Amino acid sequence: MSAATTDQFRYVSYLWDDATAERLSPAERLVYRSNCLGADQRITNTGGGNTSSKLVELDPLTGEDVDVLWVKGSGGDLRTSKLDNFASLTMTKLMGLQQVYADQPERGPKTSAEDVMVGYFPHCTFALNPRASSIDTPLHGFLPARHVDHMHPNSVIAIAASRASQRLTSEIFGGEIGWVPWLRPGFELGLLMQREVEANPQLKGLVMSQHGLINWADDDKECYELTLSLIDRAAEYIESKDRGADTFGGQKYKSLEAQRRDDLLVELLPWLRGKVSQQARFIGTVQSDDAILRFVNSHDAARLAELGTSCPDHFLRTKIKPLYVDWNPQQEESAALREKLAAGLVKYRQDYRDYYERCKHANSPAMRDPNPTVILIPGVGLIAWGKNKSESRVTAEFYNCAVEVMRGAEAMDEYIALPQQEAFDIEYWLLEEAKLKRMPPEKELARSIVVVVGAGSGIGKVIAHRVASEGAHVVCADLNREAAEATAQELVKKYGQGIGVAGTGISGCGPAIGVGVDITSRQSIGELLRQTILAYGGIDNLVVTAGVFLPPSRDGRVSDDAWKLTFEVNVRGSYNVADEANKVFVEQGLSGSIVMTTSVNGMVAKKGSLAYDTSKAAANHLVRELAIELAPLVRVNAIAPATVVEGSTMFPRDRVLASLTKYNVAFQENESDDELRGKLANFYAQRTLTKQPITPSDQAEAAYFLLSSKSSKTTGQIICVDGGLHEAFQR
Ligand SMILES: [Zn+2]
Repeated sequence: MSAATTDQFRYVSYLWDDATAERLSPAERLVYRSNCLGADQRITNTGGGNTSSKLVELDPLTGEDVDVLWVKGSGGDLRTSKLDNFASLTMTKLMGLQQVYADQPERGPKTSAEDVMVGYFPHCTFALNPRASSIDTPLHGFLPARHVDHMHPNSVIAIAASRASQRLTSEIFGGEIGWVPWLRPGFELGLLMQREVEANPQLKGLVMSQHGLINWADDDKECYELTLSLIDRAAEYIESKDRGADTFGGQKYKSLEAQRRDDLLVELLPWLRGKVSQQARFIGTVQSDDAILRFVNSHDAARLAELGTSCPDHFLRTKIKPLYVDWNPQQEESAALREKLAAGLVKYRQDYRDYYERCKHANSPAMRDPNPTVILIPGVGLIAWGKNKSESRVTAEFYNCAVEVMRGAEAMDEYIALPQQEAFDIEYWLLEEAKLKRMPPEKELARSIVVVVGAGSGIGKVIAHRVASEGAHVVCADLNREAAEATAQELVKKYGQGIGVAGTGISGCGPAIGVGVDITSRQSIGELLRQTILAYGGIDNLVVTAGVFLPPSRDGRVSDDAWKLTFEVNVRGSYNVADEANKVFVEQGLSGSIVMTTSVNGMVAKKGSLAYDTSKAAANHLVRELAIELAPLVRVNAIAPATVVEGSTMFPRDRVLASLTKYNVAFQENESDDELRGKLANFYAQRTLTKQPITPSDQAEAAYFLLSSKSSKTTGQIICVDGGLHEAFQR
């Protein structure tokens, strides 16, 4: 196909570039083709679909040419796949497995023989490739063509999930594309496809009922272009049948105006998060763009939502169905929505239990969390829940795919869902269970949202990094908004945005956000919590490291203004944040933890920092008072650092020079800030019992301990991280 024909595709992006492809080895071309396909969400969903090439490779043992199937293995996304995401299997061995399967005592769809065959795939591995084969391997291996693409395009799933799926397939694609009924991926499906092609050698692809598309060619570029043209043709057909304003039966409700919608979400989300997080905490993603609103506001939304999603990839994340709440945004108040959500959740969980009881087998794994992962509210949009931000975003993406599928199917014909027993047999498939069990254990702060006030520099910044390394979502807050955003950017760079960011209309934030805050203003704190709730759905932990130290004037006096600001920030500011955050904790009804940063100066009376030391003494007692006030839901503790010079904004060059002079430590005027700070830190170290400089990392470790479940029975305590100052011993 020449460059001129690349714009013949109206509904997919043509990305193949001959000059690029020609520079690549055959295996690299497979990676390239996969990346081109995965880059367009209209072609396949995040993490969905797979590709393969049968290539001639040199056997490292015999030196002979062998036919090898390179096929995308388990895990990873086509868009970002590299060669090591592909499994490689010797074709003669893989085809030989058909005899092994034929010899199984009991065989057929969903028998244990199918699962047994998965255990044989590693025996077919070519050249010690450690990548595990996926259950789709037989589909690729048993089809005779050299190159095979299996995609989950919304437009083709719309055909696959229509009542008249088979008729539509031949009407749209003619005789080149066949049709196979729904069958769970595996050995039987591979054999079924092989038989279809043997009987109909003219076929170039198959629509897989309730699932997706598979097509092939002996040339890789031809295979890519065929995939695009089939998806494009399906999309074009759907558009020709589009119902316009009557889509989903037309609009029943109107969307709320953005400000009112966000006010409602901020009020509702923490409560809702608490309700769905009774078994395990969830992180939320809100989507309120026009596409999802057209669905949730429609007459048919209730009926279609109840049918559930179709493609297995979709419902593994979205669950068998979403929770749709029939609330009238134009006439009903938020209290009515809350009541309807509460009742809806009770019914949803009961429906899930019934589904489990109705469909389970003797050897099925125990019932999983019965709470919905997708909640649909007219006028508002979609709320998705997942174990982390990345997962909740992908859950939202997949329900969007389901909406597109329903739109297409209902435009052409009538949408039908996968039978519940089939859905159950995928959801509770023992192989899926084994996959879940193989996942590494979750980190200590996984599923949690930590707000760090003062994250722009010093101890706060190091704490933000420390809790992120334990899997937390971190809201980096600071009086200096740019500094807060810079810390958030560092975290996003380090841990990645996660998957599914490309989804349109879905909040793109990753594992951290940066927000400016002035803790002396309740309004500013309210805005911080608002952004936290809209980004993640709630809050689990709060760390306050913000503080001011205003040195007295030369004659040792502290001005009234200095007294006022010191107490405003160090005492009342800390209280304000804790008090406002506590309102969210109470709405959620989930346990939380607050860590303040006070100072050993609050325990040792000395000269030269009168206002600061007094404020920190008050802050120490604030911790104890709050521990009593907020118990039993929220624990309140503090770290009390001493003389952390490294990275601290409280030690500008002037103060360091003044201190070095005061303590008679020798220095040169031309020494760098870091050198001077090092000298001062070493001087301070000599005054401690452990004789070591005290760093922000030491503070972060103590703060992390107080946030974590490791300290779940400790509240109202202040841990000095001061190198050991006997004057500051608490008694
Ligand atoms: Zn698939």
